[in-house]
Amino acid sequence: MSVETVKLTGKPVAEHLRANIKIRVARLNERNIIPTILIIRVGNKEDDVFYERSILKNCSLLGIKGSVKELPENVSTEELIKIIEDANDHDNIHGIMMFRPLPEHLDEKVILEKMNPKKDIDGMTPVNLEKIFEGDDSGFSPCTPKAVIEMLKYYDIPLQGANVVVAGRSLVVGKPLSMLLLKENATVTICHSKTKNMSSITSRADIVVAAIGKAKFMDEEYFTESSIVIDVGVNDDGKGKICGDVDYDNTLGKVKALTPPTGGVGTITTTILLEQAVRACE
Ligand code: NAP
Repeated sequence: MSVETVKLTGKPVAEHLRANIKIRVARLNERNIIPTILIIRVGNKEDDVFYERSILKNCSLLGIKGSVKELPENVSTEELIKIIEDANDHDNIHGIMMFRPLPEHLDEKVILEKMNPKKDIDGMTPVNLEKIFEGDDSGFSPCTPKAVIEMLKYYDIPLQGANVVVAGRSLVVGKPLSMLLLKENATVTICHSKTKNMSSITSRADIVVAAIGKAKFMDEEYFTESSIVIDVGVNDDGKGKICGDVDYDNTLGKVKALTPPTGGVGTITTTILLEQAVRACE
């Protein structure tokens, strides 16, 4: 049997959020304030450079000033801390975004502890993560989990009392997302690599969020016709194309709603980062 699957695309969600950001930037401009962010990049990883370009392009569309501090791969922990502390002290830098993971020789935990949580627009510092776990929304969230929440809200998908399964428990996606869903009064189940018979758990959920980083891992067996499926995964399909954690072609027509492998949650992430930059500035 086939059903009409609603495609949950990220573009209208991002546009909706951007309209609000523009109004807020204009209000700041009236007070001669330009929201400004500093992007810190260690090395030249292709993915980082690609994401950086997207952030800078969106900055200029929204009237936000973005600059980049590019550092050599062999930068020391002390040098990186100095750059973060300078940015913390700089009145005209409102938000800091640093690409992770950092090279292995750097002490990421110590470095993140030095970042002013009020400028941590990527929600990476211990203070901001702690707030997420306390259900306190006064801090900044990691962008991808927040993007998932914004997607669900934009498409009027009820969260209160909903059974939501989050597949993946990383500190960047799965864990903070589970806490944000809990704050929305969802009943949350977290699955991970040691979960037994995951499809029997996901197929009982109203909403499934896939964040496991395994190309096309979840197929129709994991869902039912009433499943709402949010695929956070960004993977290489082995043939040079990007694919999600969900087997899109196999699942389309068999679930109630589904995000596409490109143009889904990832489309919203940069906008969340910049919304948090404007909030930091405000
Ligand atoms: P990660 O740190 O590698 O974590 C993957 C998680 O999935 C872990 O908790 C792991 O369990 C779990 N897992 C792995 N294999 C599994 C399996 N077979 N069954 C159930 N759980 C399994 O990855 P991440 O950083 O959270 O990212 C997840 C995916 O989202 C990746 O594809 C990544 O590229 C993508 N992503 C997208 C965005 C975006 O903006 N769209 C942003 C960030 C990440 P254990 O804890 O037991 O190891």
